[in-house]
Amino acid sequence: MKVSVVSLTCCAGCVCSFLNAGNALLEILSSDFEIVYSPTFVDLKEIPNVDLAIVEGGVRTVEDERLIREVRAKSKILVALGICATHGGITSLGDTFSVKTLLEKEYSLLEAGKLLELKDLMYPICNFVDVDYYIPGCPPMPFLIVHSLKSIVSGKPPVRHNAVVCTECNRKIVPAKLDKLYGIYEKEADPVLCLVSQGFICLGSLTREGCGAPCPRAGFTCFGCRGPCDSLLYRSRDIYAFLVQVISKRTSIPEEKVREELYRNPFIFHTFIFSRFERAKARERVI
Ligand code: SF4
Ligand code: SF4
Ligand code: SF4
Repeated sequence: MKVSVVSLTCCAGCVCSFLNAGNALLEILSSDFEIVYSPTFVDLKEIPNVDLAIVEGGVRTVEDERLIREVRAKSKILVALGICATHGGITSLGDTFSVKTLLEKEYSLLEAGKLLELKDLMYPICNFVDVDYYIPGCPPMPFLIVHSLKSIVSGKPPVRHNAVVCTECNRKIVPAKLDKLYGIYEKEADPVLCLVSQGFICLGSLTREGCGAPCPRAGFTCFGCRGPCDSLLYRSRDIYAFLVQVISKRTSIPEEKVREELYRNPFIFHTFIFSRFERAKARERVI
């Protein structure tokens, strides 16, 4: 199987995660899986026709759009790798500035006005082309990438992870009685209890499993990099309202106060990741 690995606007962390798979990656490469195009590690300028294209990054520039359309036209199977490609991801933070401001202030040293034609916003690739499989994560864990690709290469449907990160987390969920919320750097986390039960904003109860919950296991809140879980996507529930309900239930803080707290405290991160993934038909292709 001939494979291309393509990067759009991104930090290249997803391809690094893919390379970090170590022996598991070597196993794939030694089977019927030949990478024939990748600006990161293959010196080939023209995008070739391939069986499988793996795309990291989203569409922020006019050139990104041209590229993803070309990649789609030249690949039988297209996999979106990482939350930038699947949902918009961390690169969507640029959406908080106007294009004019981005060009004048953020890219001024690169004279980007001459080099890049920016689109109005950052978009996931599904806004422009059909995507066969989505592997969200920032970046997706190496084992998840390799297991998913192995299935795709062998023609089997990849395992879908449709539950939430809490199911992979070893922390104990207990109802607590709190009067305020905390940013993760504001106090030391208890090593055993659920982070929400301690007043931290962990998004594990909304977020698709499959990563193994490394963040809450290490004492850091889940920031939702695997995107919304199936139950949120299928029932089209209001993600923010659901988060407020979960926090209120676990902390006994009234919902209205939770909403106030989420905006009061500058140490409480808000997620930017659940954006622009609205295509109902794509839900069952998220791995
Ligand atoms: S998903 Fe995260 S790691 Fe992957 S390219 Fe985007 S910012 Fe980088
Ligand atoms: S909310 Fe976070 S800390 Fe609590 S169980 Fe879920 S993933 Fe673990
Ligand atoms: S725990 Fe949350 S933030 Fe951490 S890798 Fe998993 S989904 Fe991403």
